[in-house]
Amino acid sequence: MLHELMKLPYAYDALEPMMSAETLQYHHGKHHAGYVTKLNALISGTAEFESKSLVEIIKHADGAVYNNAAQVYNHDFFWTTLSPESTVPSLALDSVINAQFGSIEAFKKAFIEKGVTLFGSGWVWLCIDDKKNLSIVNTSNADNPLRSGLVPLMVCDVWEHAYYIDYRNARADYLENWWKLLNWKFVSFNFANHEKHRGDYFSNFCKDNTPYCDYIDALDAKEESGS
Ligand code: MN
Repeated sequence: MLHELMKLPYAYDALEPMMSAETLQYHHGKHHAGYVTKLNALISGTAEFESKSLVEIIKHADGAVYNNAAQVYNHDFFWTTLSPESTVPSLALDSVINAQFGSIEAFKKAFIEKGVTLFGSGWVWLCIDDKKNLSIVNTSNADNPLRSGLVPLMVCDVWEHAYYIDYRNARADYLENWWKLLNWKFVSFNFANHEKHRGDYFSNFCKDNTPYCDYIDALDAKEESGS
């Protein structure tokens, strides 16, 4: 199947001042879109990958097909990890972060440190393994933790193109402000569903995020009713 550029669940200027509309125009409109175009050109007409989901391609491809598929997935994940709204972790996620990192603040410090110290381009992930251990994982370039059997829960893009317009070379400042945009509802959803989806949150979701939004609405209704 040919892949589509994910429609952002917010406007290009919705993440200001932490992330500018100009950054989103380039990052989503040019960089992310470029990976989708390249992936489609590479897999179009191939028996091996044309009909496969992004996650299946990431698990089995190498070279340019892997790099472009992973960059499409990583960016889909990155945009959904962000929200212009203020959110909080679910009680279950809050409890496991406290148990494994000491506190949300200690987790934040460790996550940002991992991003600051990653050499070159890459990604910082919160992942969960099959024993329910959380870990903060760096990957270089396009690399994706699904390849190592981990299930991603959240991700930050630390390629320079993610922050250079707004922060120049100050990656630590970018990470501090990026944290303010963290969509804890999505991270909590991923934590609650990691055994079911195994990181494949997007094959089940339309690119306009509608089923994800439906899920969030259902979660909110459930919380409001106290069940
Ligand atoms: Mn990027």
